[in-house]
Amino acid sequence: MDRTNKIINVLVIILVLNLLVAITKLFFGQLLNSNSLTADGFHSLTDTFSNIIGIIGMKLARKPADKKHPYGYQKYETLAGLTIGFLLFGILLQIIVSAIDRFINPVEIEFSIPAIIAIVLTIFINIFVAVFEYRYGRKLQSEVLISDSIHTKSDIFISIGVLITIILIKLNVPVIIDPIVSLIIAVFIFKSSVEIFKSNIGVLVDKKVVDEEIIKKFLMEADEEVLDVHRVRSRGKLDYIYIDLHIITRPELSVDKAHELSHKLEKLLEDHLGRRVDLNCHIEPFEDPHIELH
Ligand SMILES: [Zn+2]
Ligand SMILES: [Zn+2]
Repeated sequence: MDRTNKIINVLVIILVLNLLVAITKLFFGQLLNSNSLTADGFHSLTDTFSNIIGIIGMKLARKPADKKHPYGYQKYETLAGLTIGFLLFGILLQIIVSAIDRFINPVEIEFSIPAIIAIVLTIFINIFVAVFEYRYGRKLQSEVLISDSIHTKSDIFISIGVLITIILIKLNVPVIIDPIVSLIIAVFIFKSSVEIFKSNIGVLVDKKVVDEEIIKKFLMEADEEVLDVHRVRSRGKLDYIYIDLHIITRPELSVDKAHELSHKLEKLLEDHLGRRVDLNCHIEPFEDPHIELH
């Protein structure tokens, strides 16, 4: 199975788990007449949108390169990751607005053991989802899975917030604690959405992915024909990167050998960096001062 299918499979499993969490919360919310649990259930339902966006993004990203898109469609995955960040940001705004509303119009919060059991159960499902998704995200080097796992992590904060609020109010803490807890949770969610924005925007605006010195040192040690390396630039996704650089070599090295060298270096870089590398080498002869050549 290829990487894209593996990522889509993980997203489908998580979609099912998120639906399960949403249905559990909505069911108990209605049964126990608990507003906070019902609201949390609707939030969980919106989480499935994130999974669906991820699946759509991966389906678009897997299309092979064509004449109009010679670099392929991989960045659709990054775009899906960014959209997941926007969704989380929307949830953040909603939490803030609702907290302000509850400062002005405090609502009664009911305490019930079944509601607490339902929340604890869904927290465990979410912890499993976040860990499972993050691990696969790292393994498959997928922006979508990592972004979505950060979102799931925020859901855990939200559920823990609901739980703490219910318990504190049972302990006779004034109802005002409810919006205060919400605003504290909002800080965590803000951090999570910034984290998602940063990683995906970095890919979209071609932020450097590998340090210039690391590449230079590695290539000079890899083959004695590499006399110097400069003008190193790298960009790309977690799983696929482009590296452009200039290599100085002996002037008498044949085109045949220089060509062989560039293929060898690409392969070595791939193994060293643990991801697919598209290396573009500009070969320069040693005797000429390369500064004038470039
Ligand atoms: Zn070639
Ligand atoms: Zn040069």
